Amino acid sequence: MTWQGIRGHDAVVERFRTALGLHRLASTFLFVGPPGTGKRTFALKLAQALLCERVSEEQLAPCGECPACKQCLAGTHPDIDYVAKPEDKSSIPIELLIGSDEKRMREGLCFRISLKPFSGKRKIAIIDDADYLFNEAANCLLKTLEEPPPRSVLILLGTSEQRQLPTIRSRCQVVRFQPLDTNDVAEILVEQQLTADRNAAHQAAALAEGSVSAAVRLLESELSEFRAELLQSLAQSPLQPAVLMKLVQTYVDAAGKESAAKKLRLRDAFGFSSSYFRQLMLIGSGLAQPTAASRAWLDPAEMGSRGVELCLEATSAADSNAAVLNVLEWWADELATLQRTGTATLLSH
Ligand SMILES: [Zn+2]
Repeated sequence: MTWQGIRGHDAVVERFRTALGLHRLASTFLFVGPPGTGKRTFALKLAQALLCERVSEEQLAPCGECPACKQCLAGTHPDIDYVAKPEDKSSIPIELLIGSDEKRMREGLCFRISLKPFSGKRKIAIIDDADYLFNEAANCLLKTLEEPPPRSVLILLGTSEQRQLPTIRSRCQVVRFQPLDTNDVAEILVEQQLTADRNAAHQAAALAEGSVSAAVRLLESELSEFRAELLQSLAQSPLQPAVLMKLVQTYVDAAGKESAAKKLRLRDAFGFSSSYFRQLMLIGSGLAQPTAASRAWLDPAEMGSRGVELCLEATSAADSNAAVLNVLEWWADELATLQRTGTATLLSH
């Protein structure tokens, strides 16, 4: 079933329909779920349903034809505000929320949402990349979250509850978005004309762990070749840290000079490796059959779980702007040690 062309989130739709039917829609939401599961698409469609001029909001069925719907679809509705982390920044700048130094609280999202709606219905603000709301920016958002203006709806989009500050989390109603199932991912790739090749769509979807954005990237042949080589390297016994490091480094460097593009590739490497270790955990606990690729790891349950932790730590080190080479070297060495001795030194321990 799909709601307004959105696949896989019927339970979330029902939850909103019920709340709206009872006239008990909360004002502040935190949508969490893996990237590429449709949180932003859902938030925008919800906004459209709340602003549609022809169909009442509790029906949650925007007409798609009225002026408000058309503005929503074109991304120009004056009562929808959208803020995201700029690509070249490592956090959401405070200016986007409360304006520049000279214009504090006279511009920015928190200011705009305090104004009366243009349409008279609602004001809706969407804060994307909420994982990157830190200190100052988070603090100024708190007041708005605590006392949201009447008829306003604020939606924060993040990847997990754990990545949000407790002060923010506790002020929002949490809505969880599950990874999509493989068929839905494949259908979305075809529907959105990201590929015309159904086989390729299914292959990419099968590896994407429920994420459309991951599947889109997997459609690129360079990425799937890299993934195959990486998995081969992780299945070596003994694991060769220098070879592993070189492999990832070459792939990262091929992104060019732009650091955001490099970082994305580094995340690919840690993400693929993390899935490899999760598979080891399944094998270790008897939920999956051992494969040729798992034999290099003698204690798959324990080593798999440690391996996942190492990959997560490497990802957050890379996110916190540590030098790529240092992170890679540490990660590859630790994996080799883990395979040899069954233990690893985690940075945070
Ligand atoms: Zn409409």
